[in-house]
Amino acid sequence: MTHQEDGVHCIVCGKEQFSLAHDEWMRRAFPFVEQGQLKMCAECGAKYLVCRSCGGLYCRIHPALESWELPEKCPKCGWVNENVKAWDGTSARHF
Ligand SMILES: [Zn+2]
Ligand SMILES: [Zn+2]
Repeated sequence: MTHQEDGVHCIVCGKEQFSLAHDEWMRRAFPFVEQGQLKMCAECGAKYLVCRSCGGLYCRIHPALESWELPEKCPKCGWVNENVKAWDGTSARHF
């Protein structure tokens, strides 16, 4: 079952309880993680990039992330993360 990406609920499990997370690998793999913040779903452990404008979930981050999976803007407030936009998907493939 997949859930609509609304910036509030986990798209994996649908819950809305998150805690701040730190992931060294993701920080090194993705420049927008290094310059932003991660939140982890308390229910299933899915990680999300935090929107700097509204604090919502900008997009889900996982190790096999491809550039086409990233949204053009925050699904909650419409803010555009330039670091996400600039990413071409190449950095993750070095790992
Ligand atoms: Zn979840
Ligand atoms: Zn937002």
